[in-house]
Amino acid sequence: MYQAPVGDIAFTLKQVAGLRPALDAGVFGDLSEDLVDAILAEAGRFASEEVAPLYKIGDEHGAVLRDAAVTTPPGWKELYRRWTEGGWNALSAPEEFGGQGLPTMLAVAALEMWNSAAMAFGIGPTLTMGAVEALGKHASEALKAKYLARLVSGEWMGTMNLTEPQAGSDLAALRARAEPAGDGTYRIFGQKIFITYGEHDFTDNIVHLVLARLPDAPAGTRGISLFLVPKFLVNDDGSLGARNDVFCSGLEHKLGIHASPTCTMIYGDGFGGATPGAIGWLIGEENKGLACMFTMMNNARLSVGMQGVAVAETATQKAVAYANERRQGKASDYAGPGMAPIVHHPDVQRNLLTMKALTQVARAISYACAHAIDRARVAEGEAAAQWRDRANLLTPLAKAFSTDVGVDVASLGVQVHGGMGFIEETGAAALYRDARIAPIYEGTNGIQAIDLVSRKLPLGGGQHVHGYIGELKAVADSVRTSNVDGFGRTAERLDRALADLDEATRFLQELTSAGKADAAMAGATPYLRLISLAAGGAYLAQGGLADHGRIALCRFFAENLLGETRALKERVIEGAESLAAAGKALISA
Ligand SMILES: Cc1cc2nc3c(=O)[nH]c(=O)nc-3n(C[C@H](O)[C@H](O)[C@H](O)COP(=O)(O)OP(=O)(O)OC[C@H]3O[C@@H](n4cnc5c(N)ncnc54)[C@H](O)[C@@H]3O)c2cc1C
Repeated sequence: MYQAPVGDIAFTLKQVAGLRPALDAGVFGDLSEDLVDAILAEAGRFASEEVAPLYKIGDEHGAVLRDAAVTTPPGWKELYRRWTEGGWNALSAPEEFGGQGLPTMLAVAALEMWNSAAMAFGIGPTLTMGAVEALGKHASEALKAKYLARLVSGEWMGTMNLTEPQAGSDLAALRARAEPAGDGTYRIFGQKIFITYGEHDFTDNIVHLVLARLPDAPAGTRGISLFLVPKFLVNDDGSLGARNDVFCSGLEHKLGIHASPTCTMIYGDGFGGATPGAIGWLIGEENKGLACMFTMMNNARLSVGMQGVAVAETATQKAVAYANERRQGKASDYAGPGMAPIVHHPDVQRNLLTMKALTQVARAISYACAHAIDRARVAEGEAAAQWRDRANLLTPLAKAFSTDVGVDVASLGVQVHGGMGFIEETGAAALYRDARIAPIYEGTNGIQAIDLVSRKLPLGGGQHVHGYIGELKAVADSVRTSNVDGFGRTAERLDRALADLDEATRFLQELTSAGKADAAMAGATPYLRLISLAAGGAYLAQGGLADHGRIALCRFFAENLLGETRALKERVIEGAESLAAAGKALISA
C-alpha cells in the first residue's frame, strides 16, 4: 500500500523548487522549516494510514445515485469528516476566513499525498480550494461573508460547472441561461454535465459556481457570467433555508475514479415542485465570468497536474515492491536460491527507473509552478509580474506533462506486473484507469499545449521563456564545473536538450509572430513535452548537486531519456507540413 514519500517531497520542495531560499529570505513570514516538516509528516501519515486503506472500497463500490441523492462509498463520508477536522482543507486558504494562510507549495504537496492515496478523494477538495480562491478574488463582501468560512473549513464543498453537452473545450458554445430576478438575484436554467462532486453526502450544503449567459449577453466567451448557486439557500443567520432548484439527474459510469461522483446537473427545472429557476448570485461583473472562472481553473490545473504526479508515485511504489517479490529467470548478479527477483533484470530496472525519474521530474515542475504562484502573491511591482509570468508559463507544463506522466508511468507499472498487472487484484490496473482522466479534464492536454505556445511563449515580449531557459542552462554549467563524480554525460546531454529547446522556442515564436498559427499549433504538443523534459533534466541535476545520492537517477535520465528532445525538436520544426498534408485525408465531409 502507498507510503507517502515525505522525504522526497520535502527535498523537492526545499532544494529544487525554491522553498528553502524563500524561507531563509523570510518570504513566508515566520514559517519555519520545522513547521513545514511537521505538516508534511502529518499529511503523509494521514494519507498513508487513513486515506489509502479506503482506496479499494472506493474503486469497487463507487458512488451511487438514488432519488437525486448521491451516496459515497462506505467509510468515505467519515474519512472526509476526519480530514476536515484535521484542518487539511484550510491549509493555504486566507486566514481572514479561518484558513491557515500557508504557501500553495505546502497545499500542493499535501494534495499530492491525498491523490496518491485515492485520487477520487483528492479531486473533491481540489474544487473547493478553487472555489475559495475564485470567491476570495471576485465575490462581493456579502457573498464572502456568507460562504467563504464554511468552504474554507470544509463544512461545505464547492463545484465548478462549465461543461454542457455542446460546450466542452469551446466554452463559447455555452447555453445555460441566467435571468435577473429584479431583487439582485438571478434565476439559472440549463443542464451541466460531468460535474465532479456535483452531488454527494459529504456535506450538508454544496456551493456550485456556474457559468451562464444573461439575456442580452454578447455571443461567444465575452457573454458569459459566473454565478454562485447553493444547493440549499442560506438564511441571514447562516442556517440552511429552502432547497434550491438544482439537482443531480444522472451519474456517469467511468473508466476510473469510481468514488468521485460525476454528475449531470439540472438547473431551473422545477425540482420537487419548486417554481422553476435556480436562485443564483453574480460573482464579479456581468459578462466577465470566464475571467473569474479562470482563477478557479488555473488553480485546478496545477491541482490536476498533482494528480498525475500522485498516481505516478503510487504506481512506482507498487511496481518496485512487486519487482522485488516476483521471481522469474536467472540474472547474472543474482546468486541466491531459485529464480531471480525480476528487479535484477536490466529491462525491468529500465522500466522502474523511467517511472521513478519521470515522477520526480513531474513533481519538480509542479512544485516550481506552486513556488512561482506563492512568490507572485507576496512580491510587489516588477518582481510580482515576473513571478506571475513564471507561474503562467509553468501551469500548462504542470498540468499536461504531469498528467501524461501519470498515464505513462501507470502503464509501465502494469507492464512490470506482467499478466498480473492486467488483473484487477494487484491494483496496478486501477491506477492506470484512474490516471487516464487527468489529461482530459481541466482543459485537455492538447488545449494546454496550445495555451503554452499561443499565450505563454509571448509573455514578457517573448523574453520570459528565454530567461527561464537561461536559468536551466546555468544548472547545466554548475554540473559541468562541479567536479562531482557520477554525473557521467549529464552536462553534455543537458546542453543538447537546452539547445533543442532554444531552437524550437525561437522557431515557434517566429511562426506565431508571422501569423502562421496552424503550423505553430501542429508543433504545440511535442513542444510542451520538449520543454518539460529539458526543464526536468535541469531539476534532477539541481537535486543531484544538492544530494549526491540522487546523481545516479539524474544521470540515468540524462543518458537514457533526455535524448528524446532531439526528435521532439524535429517534430516541432519539420512536422507541420506533413501533418497538414496527411490530415486532409481524415476529414469526411
Ligand atoms: C470524470 C470527469 C470529470 C469532470 N469534471 C468536470 C467538472 O467538475 N466541471 C466541469 O465543468 N467539467 C468537468 N468535466 C468536463 C471536462 O472538463 C471536459 O470533458 C473537457 O474539458 C473536454 O471537453 P469535451 O469532453 O467536450 O471534449 P471536446 O472538447 O469535444 O474535445 C475532444 C478532443 O478534441 C480536442 N479539441 C477540442 N477543441 C480543440 C481545439 N480548438 N484545438 C485542438 N484540439 C481540440 C480535445 O483536445 C480532445 O482531444 C469532467 C469530465 C470528466 C470525464
